[in-house]
Amino acid sequence: MKQKRLSFLCFLLIFALTVPAACPAAISENVYTKFSRRVLDVFDTEITLIGYTRTEAEYEQIFDETMAMLRRYDRIFDAYHGYDGLHNLYYVNRHAFEAPVEIPEELFDLISWCKAQWDAGLRSTNIAMGAVLSIWHEYREAGLDAPENAKLPPREALEAANGHVDFDNVILDAEKQTVFFSDPQITLDIGAVAKGWAADAAVPYLEEHMPSFLLSLGGNVYAGEPPLDGRASWAVGVQDPHPEAGGTILDIVDVNRLTVVTSGDYWRYYVVDGQRYHHIIDPETLFPSRKMLSVTILCESSVLADFLSTTLFVLSAEDGLRLIESMEGVEAFWVLADGRQQASSGMGLYLRSLKNAGGRP
Ligand code: AMP
Ligand code: MG
Repeated sequence: MKQKRLSFLCFLLIFALTVPAACPAAISENVYTKFSRRVLDVFDTEITLIGYTRTEAEYEQIFDETMAMLRRYDRIFDAYHGYDGLHNLYYVNRHAFEAPVEIPEELFDLISWCKAQWDAGLRSTNIAMGAVLSIWHEYREAGLDAPENAKLPPREALEAANGHVDFDNVILDAEKQTVFFSDPQITLDIGAVAKGWAADAAVPYLEEHMPSFLLSLGGNVYAGEPPLDGRASWAVGVQDPHPEAGGTILDIVDVNRLTVVTSGDYWRYYVVDGQRYHHIIDPETLFPSRKMLSVTILCESSVLADFLSTTLFVLSAEDGLRLIESMEGVEAFWVLADGRQQASSGMGLYLRSLKNAGGRP
């Protein structure tokens, strides 16, 4: 419920920054109108699609098509429900230790992409950490249901689970499109990347049918071609992660043809003995990472941004900055636990406070 409220606030930020729906914009002889819809439907979050089309019917059809696509991904990536005849994540986690399971291309490609990052040495975001993450999930859900009894998971249980998080024990066969767990206790949790992967899947369709758009899946935003109302770019709010800020905007990024993804400690958390325990777990400590309040990534690939926002949330500010500066076409903005801010060298092109100041913070 808390998460829903925060997501709604995020929607309001985007919405507020993009002027009311249905305002006509004359582009040569064509008149485009801005339409916007928000639904609480898939991925346990608000989906917002803003776009410019000539008619409302055209927008509605594109919206429905986009939702159908996202709904399919949501089912395939669902870790909590099975669906008849669908070898989704729920099915994989229950059966892939028995024998190789043939899975839909969408899921196979996502797991393979994550494994490639693991093989390249980027291991702070480890989707094979399901054994540890599911313990936190269970304690968080129980703590949210009955806050007066909220408890931390026992360290021994986390450590025992941590013996079953080696991604090398997830065996992929590209020819047969199968996944097999050679460790029977390993499970996958793709929460760190699923929304980014799904957003990337919807983008080519939107680019073709409604190029001027902004798609938001919770904290994952993708901005297409510029808005057709004369503004040079889309304005996306970066939420102030400090609890006392009450979800207000800290800064704004001006973007086109780019994704903006934020990982923050305010999305999902519970409280034990007055302290907040959020949902991003440091594989080293097996506890919520305490280095950052939020990390925002800008780049062209939403899944990469999603993966990196979680990764940088766990890494130190120095290691994260080094990583981002070594990558082409990726920028980042950190709000550290002590409230300091850090930005990568190219962020000055996008972040309003830096543009106004003409440099780094
Ligand atoms: P995000 O909000 O994109 O940073 O993703 C957070 C989600 O990713 C959590 O709700 C967990 O499902 C999962 N997660 C948390 N910590 C990790 C981690 N270190 N590696 C992989 N997945 C994680
Ligand atoms: Mg992420």
